[in-house]
Amino acid sequence: MSKKNNTVLECSFCGKKATEAAMMIGGGLSNICDECVERAHEMVIQEVKGGRPSLGKSVLSVPSLPKEVKPKDIKLYLDQYVIGQDDAKKSLAVAVYNHFKRISQPLNDEIEIEKSNLVMIGQTGTGKTLLARTVAKYLNLPFAIVDATVFTEAGYVGEDVESILTRLLQVCDYNVEQAEHGIVYIDEVDKLGRRGDNPSITKDVSGEGVQQSLLKLLEGTEVLVPPHGGRKHPEQKLIKVNTKNILFICGGAFDGIERIISSRVQSRSIGYGSQDELNEEDKKNVLQFINQNDLKKFGLIPELVGRMPVVVALDQLDIPALRMILTEPKNAIIKQYKRLFALEGIELTVAEDVLDFIAEQAFENKLGARGLRSMCELLMADLMYELPSGDVAAFTLTMDYAANKLTGKILKKLKAA
Ligand code: ADP
Repeated sequence: MSKKNNTVLECSFCGKKATEAAMMIGGGLSNICDECVERAHEMVIQEVKGGRPSLGKSVLSVPSLPKEVKPKDIKLYLDQYVIGQDDAKKSLAVAVYNHFKRISQPLNDEIEIEKSNLVMIGQTGTGKTLLARTVAKYLNLPFAIVDATVFTEAGYVGEDVESILTRLLQVCDYNVEQAEHGIVYIDEVDKLGRRGDNPSITKDVSGEGVQQSLLKLLEGTEVLVPPHGGRKHPEQKLIKVNTKNILFICGGAFDGIERIISSRVQSRSIGYGSQDELNEEDKKNVLQFINQNDLKKFGLIPELVGRMPVVVALDQLDIPALRMILTEPKNAIIKQYKRLFALEGIELTVAEDVLDFIAEQAFENKLGARGLRSMCELLMADLMYELPSGDVAAFTLTMDYAANKLTGKILKKLKAA
């Protein structure tokens, strides 16, 4: 069929519109464009007949972004789930966009695009994991979250760094090809800082050695992965995984890095006149000036920092942001409770001042976004127990009810948690 006749058709494999394709073949429920036909043909040659595809072509198993998806579209999707954090969203959108361009780069291209691994810096509960998880969901790529603190240098008690890839293999049912194009979020990388505060005199269990091993993964290498994680042992059959096309996103709170940033920014301003001095607003949000040198000063080895070219800071969540998190995201906490009650045939309304109160308390008690859920759980616990047995069709959660449940004592308890 020619493209003239198929202006609304889309390729079921890459999403390309018929208007952008030289040819679109319709087959009942699905369509395929000329390029995907070619790629499929290459795949058949490679897989079935043992031949090699010609250079410059990717095969279907390499994930690709539909042509119409641009970084702005990725950010728009993130906006539906994550409140604020505009800078982080933009950096993440560009990083994953370039990641796709990189992995679909023709093999014979002289200019090799480097990885855009990224590091997100921000207090706990500001949305780092949520961002990484949401972008992976949008891209439909295998996604694994790991905690850097469980890894130790080879030879010590703890997990080998390679077991990061075990998680990735597990989420895609040990499909190596899929895992090799996945996204890994490594939380708490800041805890690997080789500062002089490690009391162990015998070894550096959590610091530089682990950073060195991580470096290799981030750079792109072939790794033998224990299929069930933990330590490698001789009788275990290992799976070979190449990390060249895996996108690594690192995150951490980097407590105390503000001091490093401030002293760099302030000392640089000496001799340049007062316009470089930090004003009060900047001082409150000094994280926005973070650069790779600050990470090195904090204790990450320069090689590792060099492998994470994108450094982005997340904002502290203020009261309006916390308030929005309660109700605005697609799967906002309050929406979830409303749905739970609706399934019982009960219409739940939460008074506006209750929402303000929850956000204010979360902020003042430094509970962050994570605290919002704990507070809502406390508020709703009795209702979820009582209401299903009663015959009310609607319930309004008022300020009186909330103040009664969320007393100062309970909030303190949440804070300690
Ligand atoms: P971090 O990784 O920065 O410690 P998370 O991403 O795990 O924090 O956030 C914890 C929870 O708080 C998330 O599951 C989400 O419900 C909520 N949350 C945190 N930040 C945001 C945000 N900016 N927008 C929406 N929800 C958020």
